[in-house]
Amino acid sequence: MGISIKHVSKSYGEFHVLKDINLEIKKGELISLLGPSGSGKTTLLRIIAGLEQADQGSILFEGADQTNVHVKNRNVGFVFQHYALFRNMTVFENVAYGLKVRPRKERLSKKEIKQKVDELLNIVRLKEFGERYPSQLSGGQRQRVALARALAVNPQVLLLDEPFGALDAKVRKELRRWLRKVHDEFHITSVFVTHDQEEALDISDRVVIMNDGRIEQVGTPEAVYEMPENPFVYDFLGTVNQFKGRLDSGYIYDGNFKFEVPGDVKTIKTAASGVGFARPHHFIVEKTPNDESGIHCQAEHIRAIGSTVQLELKRTDTGDIIEIELTKEYFLKLQITVGDDLYVRPKQLKVFCSS
Ligand code: ADP
Repeated sequence: MGISIKHVSKSYGEFHVLKDINLEIKKGELISLLGPSGSGKTTLLRIIAGLEQADQGSILFEGADQTNVHVKNRNVGFVFQHYALFRNMTVFENVAYGLKVRPRKERLSKKEIKQKVDELLNIVRLKEFGERYPSQLSGGQRQRVALARALAVNPQVLLLDEPFGALDAKVRKELRRWLRKVHDEFHITSVFVTHDQEEALDISDRVVIMNDGRIEQVGTPEAVYEMPENPFVYDFLGTVNQFKGRLDSGYIYDGNFKFEVPGDVKTIKTAASGVGFARPHHFIVEKTPNDESGIHCQAEHIRAIGSTVQLELKRTDTGDIIEIELTKEYFLKLQITVGDDLYVRPKQLKVFCSS
């Protein structure tokens, strides 16, 4: 089921939580709402669900306006971080609950319910756990039961609010891989709220970056990471180095650093200020200064675990830290140790005008 969010705004008193949100979610898509705490992700999810009303705008499911449709009739399944299971019911009873409380004429027979619940428990790999109570399960197992329960009623839309937020890193990783599989198998449309960028980039077809009640950018994980459209997205996603300074005649100046601004320099106002962004792997590092544009730094910290090496370099002109990532091979070739003098320059710099 495709979801259209049209001009949705919401305030609590004077506080504007959502400011004219517009978004098209495609049928069968797994989309993440990613942003800092307080950016309005949960509020938007609750409005899609019908748990909250927008002040303005509308939510359409497959073109049909849901404004006056009760949450019970929207055919959505939920998994929340703290959406507790019924403690006095077994795993089986928890998953069966939504099927048992249906009106009599829509209800499946006892045998059909058992079949369906067994099938779901099989999918979430908890077949042997049907007779256990939630207190006898780990956190990861409980969230799998919550997901099976949400899927039991054949929802068209699955809404997940930080479902793995309370779990440790290893379990989170396993569950998100597995959620992706379940999403694909059920041909469902899923909206996933998270503040964890690795999780969002890993699991989603598209990511919606939210900030202060607005959408900053929507795109595939590759697009939002590699081609951020504005400084907020650049700064928010992944590690990035910033060069802030004066823009003049096609160059940006920051301390002793001067860099030719790529692209259409005519759009850059002379004597304006700007900020340039470069990811850690977008640098050339040398031990000898054979290019004027190299920034003189000293190696402060080296982390050489894994196939890449992270360096923290201190600029000798401004004292700022530059974070660099090198392949292990190149790092070994340069023979860098803490305290070494190095000369670095970005291979590319994305510059935004700030005035
Ligand atoms: P996020 O999910 O991105 O962390 P939320 O949608 O939960 O953001 O909240 C956005 C802002 O709205 C927060 O500052 C929060 O305090 C405020 N807020 C959320 N719900 C309510 C409410 N029921 N009453 C007042 N303020 C609220």
